[in-house]
Amino acid sequence: MSEINDMSRRDLIELGVAGAAVAMASPAAMAQSRAGSSDGDKPVGFAIVGLGKLSQGQLLPGLTRTKNAKLTGLVSGDPAKAARLAVQYNVPAKSVYSYETYDRIIRDPAIEVVYIVLPNNMHAEYTIRALKAGKHVLCEKPMATTVADSEAMIAAAKAADRKLMIAYRCHYEPTNLAAMRRIRSGGIGKPRTVWTDMSRQANFSDPSDAWRVSKEMSGTGALADMGVYGINAARYLLNEEPIEVRAWASTDRSDPRFKEVEDLVSWQFRFPSGAIANGSTAFNSNGGMGFQVAGEKGRVVADPGCLYGGNRLTFGAPNGKTVEITEIDQFAREMDWMADVVRGRAPMVAPGEEGLQDMRLIDAIMQSIARDGATIKTDWGYKRAVDPAAVVDV
Ligand code: NDP
Repeated sequence: MSEINDMSRRDLIELGVAGAAVAMASPAAMAQSRAGSSDGDKPVGFAIVGLGKLSQGQLLPGLTRTKNAKLTGLVSGDPAKAARLAVQYNVPAKSVYSYETYDRIIRDPAIEVVYIVLPNNMHAEYTIRALKAGKHVLCEKPMATTVADSEAMIAAAKAADRKLMIAYRCHYEPTNLAAMRRIRSGGIGKPRTVWTDMSRQANFSDPSDAWRVSKEMSGTGALADMGVYGINAARYLLNEEPIEVRAWASTDRSDPRFKEVEDLVSWQFRFPSGAIANGSTAFNSNGGMGFQVAGEKGRVVADPGCLYGGNRLTFGAPNGKTVEITEIDQFAREMDWMADVVRGRAPMVAPGEEGLQDMRLIDAIMQSIARDGATIKTDWGYKRAVDPAAVVDV
């Protein structure tokens, strides 16, 4: 591409024309952006996009504990916060971007993976922009706010020939892996029922929760935020996909948190094996994040089962035996896994299709609620490509 074209691309970025850099990206810029993707043992450079609660509390600290992933970039709408965190985590000032300058990551070969940690309705746009800039993407759950956006993200990854992974941290968490392995080994016999409850009290005074009760920004409130853990868990615990869904909601519309989204959502999944899962989620409950799978011969109970730490697993009934679990930093493990996927050392456990499956199930749940618990068919042929229990070591 000529210097004139190069200049005009720069000018357009300066003017803040989103996507212009991408649309005009030269083969040379794409090659520069992709440099490092086959760099053997070199740590994979990660940029974190959105420096909110999860990024500051878990991901930036987690990146100090990774073996194969390294923090090399930050993207934020708050320059002072970004500058402070850049100093704290040794990110060079040239690799700190705003949402307006984001597309310039195309010229930053130190960034190989972009980790999207934004409100749900921003996942699709920032994922697609990163993919078009030649970067691999790790995107937080839920993948997006709509099925259409999720499909567009998958298509963009295919078009760019880049990896798109959804950040389902429980796939890399020892309690969940031990539960999956117990079930796969026949330890509880044929699974019959699954119970999941992923609930908490949303706190309006916390800005991090304010967008979670906006329909536009969250998609579906507690269901998108917490319920997705239960949807995903039922599927990975049984290692099969629901063929039918029924769901109900219970929401106090006088509660100012629930002007736009449902509060309590409860659903049933029917699986081809005959197993039935009961799931629930709420923003006005102290339910916690637990699950149980009962089989013909025994059961696994993890309550809590999906916290950042302190999960507790028991096998058997009625007086279950507590299983010794050595805790790890599941966020660091997940980012290392992504790094290994990029380097071709590990299989992709949660590709975009895995996030899309949950988005389609969320959609089916909402359809059932709208039809007063009507049965919605969900047998659209999805099959997970890689079972976390078969490949993830912790
Ligand atoms: P926060 O609200 O704490 O952080 C989101 C950040 O996004 C903000 O701090 C801000 O960063 C940036 N942002 C840009 N535009 C907006 C906007 N219009 N409104 C609000 N924030 C904006 O959310 P969380 O960190 O808790 O969650 C982020 C994502 O991570 C969500 O998708 C959530 O579902 C997921 N998540 C996953 C968890 C897990 O365990 N896997 C746990 C918690 C969250 P800045 O100021 O730097 O621009």
